[in-house]
Amino acid sequence: MEEFSVRTTRKFQVIDITAKVQEIVKRGATPEGICCVFAPHATAAVTINENADPNIGEDLQEALAKLIPEGIWRHDRIDDNAAAHIKAAIVGPSETVPVKERKLMLGTWQSLMLVEFDGPRERKVFVQIR
Ligand code: ZN
Repeated sequence: MEEFSVRTTRKFQVIDITAKVQEIVKRGATPEGICCVFAPHATAAVTINENADPNIGEDLQEALAKLIPEGIWRHDRIDDNAAAHIKAAIVGPSETVPVKERKLMLGTWQSLMLVEFDGPRERKVFVQIR
């Protein structure tokens, strides 16, 4: 398994990690299989979506903010970031992508994204190919 770090710079941020994951897949020992991309965090997530239009990241933020208001949850009494936990739970901590000839088989408009919900922070991403 390999890992890399991403330093987020805002509270909400969508960061394209496709190139970093593809680089790991390219030099990996497994030319074909499944690549698991996993963020070991409770307030960040991993998703696959379009990155050609950065509005999609902004739209995701706005949609989730409309669905999940801030400051009204039980966990807010503990450390005031319940909305970030709920958003991360909905988006989920991982994605799996088929690998063929050491290439991620993503569609033309698909990118792997790390989604920060409670930044800025240092985030880890684990990548395992089997
Ligand atoms: Zn918390």
